[in-house]
Amino acid sequence: MPRLLFFGETMTTATDITVIYIVGPSRSGSTLIEDYIARRFGGVACGELYRISQFAKGDARIIKEDGAEETCACGAPVSECAFWCAVAEEAGLDLVQSSFRSRLSRRQRVFFRLFVRLLGARLTNRMGKLVPAFERELEVGENCLRIYRAISRVANVSLIVDSSKQAHQYYILKAVAPKKMRLINLLRDGRSVVASMTKRARGEVLARKIMAGTGRSPAPEDVAEKAFRAWMLSTLNGLVAFAFTSRGRRAMLRYEEFFDDPKNEMSRIEHSFSLTKKNYAQESHAIGGSPSRYTVGFEDLRADASWKERTPPQKTSVVTVSAHLLNRALGYRGVDRSEKN
Ligand SMILES: [Zn+2]
Repeated sequence: MPRLLFFGETMTTATDITVIYIVGPSRSGSTLIEDYIARRFGGVACGELYRISQFAKGDARIIKEDGAEETCACGAPVSECAFWCAVAEEAGLDLVQSSFRSRLSRRQRVFFRLFVRLLGARLTNRMGKLVPAFERELEVGENCLRIYRAISRVANVSLIVDSSKQAHQYYILKAVAPKKMRLINLLRDGRSVVASMTKRARGEVLARKIMAGTGRSPAPEDVAEKAFRAWMLSTLNGLVAFAFTSRGRRAMLRYEEFFDDPKNEMSRIEHSFSLTKKNYAQESHAIGGSPSRYTVGFEDLRADASWKERTPPQKTSVVTVSAHLLNRALGYRGVDRSEKN
């Protein structure tokens, strides 16, 4: 049977892959940034790979936003998308049955990350032979790696961009393929993330989560506080992951600077990771991510600064105060209301 070829003319046996993994808070433009990087450097944006099993199942509960769909970015259900079917076959994995995300408890995850940070990949792998929980976690990493390699062969590319954003997932991947991983630590002004996380359907999802825990309908300030907490945790986790990644394998990227001057920021990424510019125009088969991927073109890439007009109600609590302090420490200052956007 002839092999399915999607983008390239010939099938390569590319084993020398590079995976750019984006870590950062949700609502920080990672879907567009991922797509932009893939197009500029001739790679494939796989989206949030850690959620692929849910997408392959067509589970409607995965939808977190207005206008999002439980399909591949090409519009087909993942189970019917020719690209993902070819990748699964090439990888020899069942997308529904195999694990692509952590199965550890919160406490076990802390230990796992400590191991990877302090002892490195080789010793963590040795530990995996002794501790069954670690072994299962490493298997998750191996599965993702098999998918990346299969994507590289099916699409004939050597660069894959994953916008899963989960810092823990990055440590799993770093433990199985330390030399292949590159980290982008994405930062965005906490206030704009919170405004984005609390508006419309997204805010309702957060409110339902709080309600499930407390049994009563939360006030808007409580929803904003939860969003602040989520932003703070993912930002801190991203910064720690950055600190424990060596030079040449990491880059910091601010949402605001990227949308202000994407070309300049991409030159920085190109330089940091020694990438080669290679323009590709290919159909996206990314998983998950913001629904704006369906509607926004690259010519109108622009930072969303509309949050300045509708900052959500905030209460004074340890969480919001710490979040504001972290935001200032990252260099995000007060809002100039006279600013034109
Ligand atoms: Zn597709």
